[in-house]
Amino acid sequence: MARIPIFYYHSIGNIGPETLAANTFRKHLEILKELEFKPITFSQLITGQYDSTHKNVVLTFDDGLIDNYERAFPILQEFCCKATFFIIAGFDKVTRWVNPKTSSWSDYKRQGFTIPFPSMQNHHREELIKYGMEIGSHSMSHRKLNKTPPDHLKKEIFGSKNCLEDSHGIEISSFCFPKGRYNKTVLSIVESAGFKGACTTMPGFYSLSENPFECGRFLIEKPQLFRRILELASSNNPIFENTLTAIRPLLKLKNSYL
Ligand SMILES: [Zn+2]
Repeated sequence: MARIPIFYYHSIGNIGPETLAANTFRKHLEILKELEFKPITFSQLITGQYDSTHKNVVLTFDDGLIDNYERAFPILQEFCCKATFFIIAGFDKVTRWVNPKTSSWSDYKRQGFTIPFPSMQNHHREELIKYGMEIGSHSMSHRKLNKTPPDHLKKEIFGSKNCLEDSHGIEISSFCFPKGRYNKTVLSIVESAGFKGACTTMPGFYSLSENPFECGRFLIEKPQLFRRILELASSNNPIFENTLTAIRPLLKLKNSYL
């Protein structure tokens, strides 16, 4: 198979506008099963540790929210699906809040921000790891790395890797740019920290010719569109690139917090 889709999620099954309904997420996994896609982790993908005779797919979750553990993890287990969870290493004690009127986010509680999004803790992540899920880094504090001074970049990138490795006693191989922001300096520091690949928020399929540090992903809600992306991945249609260009506006991020 030439193209492997990487999907990304954020909150699952919370209330308000900034979450994906648990039933919709379940529908995604039903479609994967129906179309015989096999979910692998992001590090399996970038290190080539997967069976290329299967139709493979990667499911990723950004921000390490506790609803990923409480709502998505049981559904992933039910469908025997692996996934990668990108954790903000310095946010264990941080609960984020959403303003349902503006769909905006805050890293602390303030007026109008009424929906809490607590973070996973070490023991939650340990359970994910025990089940074969991957833990990756989403920086220390979720700031835009392209706007971060070089001396602080090392804390965000090396620091988050060391922090998660110390907490869990495993190698952390995968990185995900907060809010999809990066530049050449960020890329070179991520590579020199020993990560093996990184995820962006640009839509696009993974292919072997791609730089593993700039992997595209799809942010999809509607099951029909989710199905269409999978069908495109399996197809050798020569007009594929045009199709992808055509659907890009549909995939535009509405959520600046990712
Ligand atoms: Zn994020």
